[in-house]
Amino acid sequence: MKLNDEQREFQSLARLVSERQLAPLAPLADVEDGFDRDAWEVLREHDFVGLAIDEEHGGLGRGVVTGSLIIEELARNHASVALCFLVPYIFAAALADSDDLAARYLPKLASGEALGAFLLTEPGSGSDAASITTRAELNGDSYVVNGTKHFITNGDVADLGLLYARTGGPGGSGISAFVLEMDTPGVTIGRHEQKMGLRGCSLVEVRFENARVPVINLIGQEGTGLRVALTGLDFARVLVASLAVGLAQGALDMALEYAKGREQFGRPVTSNQGLQWLIVDQQMAIAASRELALEAARKVEEHEPDALQYASMAKAFCTDMCMQVTTNAVQIFGGYGYLRDYGVERMMRDAKILQIFEGTNQIQRIAVARSIMGRE
Ligand SMILES: Cc1cc2nc3c(=O)[nH]c(=O)nc-3n(C[C@H](O)[C@H](O)[C@H](O)COP(=O)(O)OP(=O)(O)OC[C@H]3O[C@@H](n4cnc5c(N)ncnc54)[C@H](O)[C@@H]3O)c2cc1C
Repeated sequence: MKLNDEQREFQSLARLVSERQLAPLAPLADVEDGFDRDAWEVLREHDFVGLAIDEEHGGLGRGVVTGSLIIEELARNHASVALCFLVPYIFAAALADSDDLAARYLPKLASGEALGAFLLTEPGSGSDAASITTRAELNGDSYVVNGTKHFITNGDVADLGLLYARTGGPGGSGISAFVLEMDTPGVTIGRHEQKMGLRGCSLVEVRFENARVPVINLIGQEGTGLRVALTGLDFARVLVASLAVGLAQGALDMALEYAKGREQFGRPVTSNQGLQWLIVDQQMAIAASRELALEAARKVEEHEPDALQYASMAKAFCTDMCMQVTTNAVQIFGGYGYLRDYGVERMMRDAKILQIFEGTNQIQRIAVARSIMGRE
């Protein structure tokens, strides 16, 4: 995709910040396994956290194409903080038609003063999001919420949440969306999960026991919650696609650098055509994925009719590519790649979740099938 001057400037800045400030933080975050606040502060320092939010609410108001370029650069060196970067996009999309909520909450997210979380998944409801059981019962001027959310990224450190709960009967039309202040009485943090990768983010259970959420925090109308969730997820899917491109490029660059200096049989291992072709195949896959991710971002930004199909295609294609490329990057390193010392195994572990969250890649394929073949 041809970039304009401003997009190239954002891209260069993000690359510099990623190399100089985020790369040194990533190994420590992987050991400590929790929200990497230092890396988040780096994003705040460079105004990246407010990129998604419009100027009226204190942000920079840049679209998802610019966001995709930036997240790719961040993910080359620190996939966990790149994931945090996408949350304001989800909030901005969810509150696009809610002037009052946008005015109350977006400025805090734009400045980075508040951190956001997305609370949809439950122990019994993952891919089948329409089956959530957390209930929000209208009582006076608030909804009383009871239930349990799990697998909530940064739920323990977030100030604001996008909460999905059932206000009506079964199925998607019974679900509503709310802005939740995480310090609401009755909201507690449960189990902290131990993860394979993305260990610069935390992952927790969030419990609701008679937590009162004001009626004015309902987004849109009762029953429109799943639509709000899906709008946010389209942005998320496109951005995860670019995150995957960046993570893959970061791993391949490291592997190439290493391989150029590694000698076996009296010559650099890169002089073997077998290894050259392995490297070239990875670079070709990354280059093709980058174009698909940016094209999907452009379609989402310009509200093109097939934007959702492209968001799903990009998410599945780019994250599958990332898993393949990061695994092959470990292979190019040989045994050293299997050690913690070089960081490439961390990138392989980080890659795996990209195929699972924001809708698994099986669910993306269902969405694409419906888009091109219609519903059965
Ligand atoms: C690290 C991490 C971070 C996360 N962050 C968040 C977060 O911040 N907020 C949030 O709400 N959630 C979050 N999640 C949850 C994540 O979105 C879910 O794990 C994901 O949607 C899959 O749900 P599940 O784990 O229940 O798997 P299931 O839905 O139980 O799926 C199990 C398997 O069955 C497959 N499958 C299911 N249905 C079908 C079908 N119809 N056809 C074909 N295959 C199918 C799936 O693809 C998968 O392979 C996170 C999860 C993890 C691990």
